[in-house]
Amino acid sequence: MSDNDDDNNGRQDRVLYQFPIPPDEEADQNLPFVDLGITPLAKQLGLTSEQMNGHWCSRCQGIWFGYTLEAECPVCGNRHG
Ligand SMILES: [Zn+2]
Repeated sequence: MSDNDDDNNGRQDRVLYQFPIPPDEEADQNLPFVDLGITPLAKQLGLTSEQMNGHWCSRCQGIWFGYTLEAECPVCGNRHG
């Protein structure tokens, strides 16, 4: 997973949205976010939704789900939230 970025010093857990999501009876239809999908690592690890965290990507204007310490948007590669 690591590359040559100089900011991969371990603690990039910019978690802005966490599971569990609100139960269905409280479902907020006004929650306007784009689902950017699940990271390859989370799929590889076989994580369930309860084990993943949502991460905001300002470039995609959406949320992707992955392992807690992941920081890179699986869609555009943005690592800065
Ligand atoms: Zn993105």
